[in-house]
Amino acid sequence: MLDDSRMENVFDQFIAGHLRRVLLCFPLFHGDPMTPNVNLCQLIERFGNDEKCRKALETLRWPDGPKCLRCNGDATPVKDRDTFDCDSCHYQFTVTTATIFHDTHLDLWKWFLCTYLLCESRKGMSANQLKRTLGVSYKTAWYLCHRIRKAMTEADHKLSGTVEIDEMYIGGHTKNADKWKKHAPVVGIRERGGHLHFISAANLNQDKINEIIARNVDKSVDVIMTDESRLYNFNATKFQGKHKTVNHKSEEYVRYGGGLCVTTNAIKSAFSLFKRGVVGAWHKVSVKHLPTYLQEMTWRFNNRKNQYLFRDTMLRLLASDNLEYKELTKAA
Ligand SMILES: [Zn+2]
Repeated sequence: MLDDSRMENVFDQFIAGHLRRVLLCFPLFHGDPMTPNVNLCQLIERFGNDEKCRKALETLRWPDGPKCLRCNGDATPVKDRDTFDCDSCHYQFTVTTATIFHDTHLDLWKWFLCTYLLCESRKGMSANQLKRTLGVSYKTAWYLCHRIRKAMTEADHKLSGTVEIDEMYIGGHTKNADKWKKHAPVVGIRERGGHLHFISAANLNQDKINEIIARNVDKSVDVIMTDESRLYNFNATKFQGKHKTVNHKSEEYVRYGGGLCVTTNAIKSAFSLFKRGVVGAWHKVSVKHLPTYLQEMTWRFNNRKNQYLFRDTMLRLLASDNLEYKELTKAA
């Protein structure tokens, strides 16, 4: 049993702890609008209308104050308008001029919210779900997703250390033999403790695999692990002698030897996450748009520890070229 004074003590500690949490959170609501690990409530509070979104874009686009889009000179806001006027050449522009946001009829806060949702949903989100969440048409939601996905691109870099490689096939049904032809092969390459690359290919053979690996794996790699498939043969490549296999046919999934844990479980788990996205969120992924879905998944996966993922995706969007609707929908 607690006596009265101890109860008081516990109560004081509770209040002190609560106050500390409130005070610690307080600075998050001021200053830089793009603080780490934004949650949905903070997102709505900070970017719930176009005025706030404009201000946030200004901070992101011009951290040192607005710069003229023609001469890069300093610019001054025009009173009562969203426009800036260049101090030197008097060119007038807004924060969205020459960005993907410019010719859009969609409210800026919907762009912010959709980008946030795509960053936060681990398995992706369907256009149908976004249509309901944002209160827009299916076409608008679908087009919006594709433009955000396109901005989710990473700089090219090669994987090293211990690398696992495997392939999967997306789409089609097994009932109809012809539909197998519609299966789209995807090669997955994952550096243990590091990045993931998904590469779609029209068809797979040894040469194609070797070409993909040469583009995605650094020659300094320690070891490449695959299953026993004949697709993986590095004897005539710079990776000769660095190849270890597990034999899935004889139900070997992990093998220890020579100080190594030989397995392809890490790349297989990345594939299963993507497949859950296809089954649970996107439902259907066309061969034509497959690379952009893969891009979205790897962007999120490779940024899983990035506390600034939302901000970084907004920065990519600001720098991204527009993607015309007719370009997206034309036949592959
Ligand atoms: Zn100027």
